[in-house]
Amino acid sequence: MTEKKFINKDYASKLIDCLGEEFVVINNPDYVHPQFEICPMAEKIYSVPGIIPAFVMDMDGTTTTTEVLCIHSLEYMLRRISGKISINEWIGLDKVSDYPHIIGNSTTKHVEYLIGKYQTMIVQEELIKSFIHSSLWTLVLGHDEKRKDEVRNNILNLGFGDILNDSKFTELLSSTDKKEISLSIVNDLYNTYKSCFKEYSFDGLVRIGIDVYYQRYHEILERIKNGEGNKVAEELFTNSDKHLIEPMPGVLVFLSLVKGWINEAEADLFVPKILEDYKEKTGSEYLPQENKIQVIENLKKLARLYKSRPAKTALVTSSIFYEADIVMKELMKMIRMQIEKVSLLPEEKRTFLKNKFSDYNNVYDAFITASDSSEIRLKPHRDLYSIALYKLHIAKNNFNKIAGFEDSESGTIAIRAAGIGLCVALPFAQTKHHDLKSASYVCHGGLPEVILKHKLFIK
Ligand SMILES: [Mg+2]
Repeated sequence: MTEKKFINKDYASKLIDCLGEEFVVINNPDYVHPQFEICPMAEKIYSVPGIIPAFVMDMDGTTTTTEVLCIHSLEYMLRRISGKISINEWIGLDKVSDYPHIIGNSTTKHVEYLIGKYQTMIVQEELIKSFIHSSLWTLVLGHDEKRKDEVRNNILNLGFGDILNDSKFTELLSSTDKKEISLSIVNDLYNTYKSCFKEYSFDGLVRIGIDVYYQRYHEILERIKNGEGNKVAEELFTNSDKHLIEPMPGVLVFLSLVKGWINEAEADLFVPKILEDYKEKTGSEYLPQENKIQVIENLKKLARLYKSRPAKTALVTSSIFYEADIVMKELMKMIRMQIEKVSLLPEEKRTFLKNKFSDYNNVYDAFITASDSSEIRLKPHRDLYSIALYKLHIAKNNFNKIAGFEDSESGTIAIRAAGIGLCVALPFAQTKHHDLKSASYVCHGGLPEVILKHKLFIK
């Protein structure tokens, strides 16, 4: 550690030399100085002596299927501000070139990328109308106070603060029958205030994009919370059987196992589920070098080890608390439905597991969201994972015993930047084009592969 505070470039490069062999360049949001930061990464680790005492893991795309909803809301934002609502007018986002830039980072960085790339598509009238609509929705129908503050701030700074005192808005705000924001009120306010709008800077466009994105995503989450999940699925993906928030394959068995909730004697009952999850994730059967008996023996061994020393777990997400809370409550419901389907499980154990999965606070020892940090310091910055390690009471000299799971490039970088050397990438369809070389393992078979093939990385 150096005692000096102010140093020159030569001295800085000497200090950097002491920080390790691998570094990552992290671009900051456009409104932050400096443009980028260089962070040291923990040395890669491939296994841990003994059992892993704590796991830290991402939410969207790693624990839940919600990444699809975030992508939908980002694409919707561009459709709204361009007026190109249908697929005939604009084909939509490109999975290969766009997805690596809009998954796993902060919302600001996702929107900055999209506005930068698709800026020429923006139509001024559509931009302003979508801004008015999303602002009214957030202030009148939204439930997240921090979001409301940001929207008020944007309204004032983007030049149309008078709307906040307009009787059309104040009547809507005080109305007891708030259901939706009508097109007519948006058009009326647009006609009254359109002259207040000026040519926006890149930052201004990004702020509007963020508000439009959040409005859409929160509207969907509210409907899911109110039990309209199937209806929304049918509207968005023309498939009402699809649950919009589901556990990624392997989540039930993984969490039950590492929390010590599966006894050695009943571990074999979870073998069909984990093999089925492997098939769901990869599209093919798990073909172990060992036979099925060995798979059962391995699961029994893991159950025995974790029963005696349950692991700590942390959920670490760049989503704000309002979003993560709704998503994880819905996820717990879906996991309880999966528990119902595990055959031959003694009724007492079924009830025990359903109780455990009745509240995500029973499952996670730390629950870290973007609301614990700042939009400026989200993944790939290390902060959310550093907060998780602190809340789990993991001493720094034990960071090399922890495993972190992520589905995206930004997430895997954040894990290594937080000092965790055993970083495991669990990519899925939407992140398969990400550069995941920060990770020690890239497991296309997800959590089932982590359990079946890697046996939770125990040496
Ligand atoms: Mg993710």
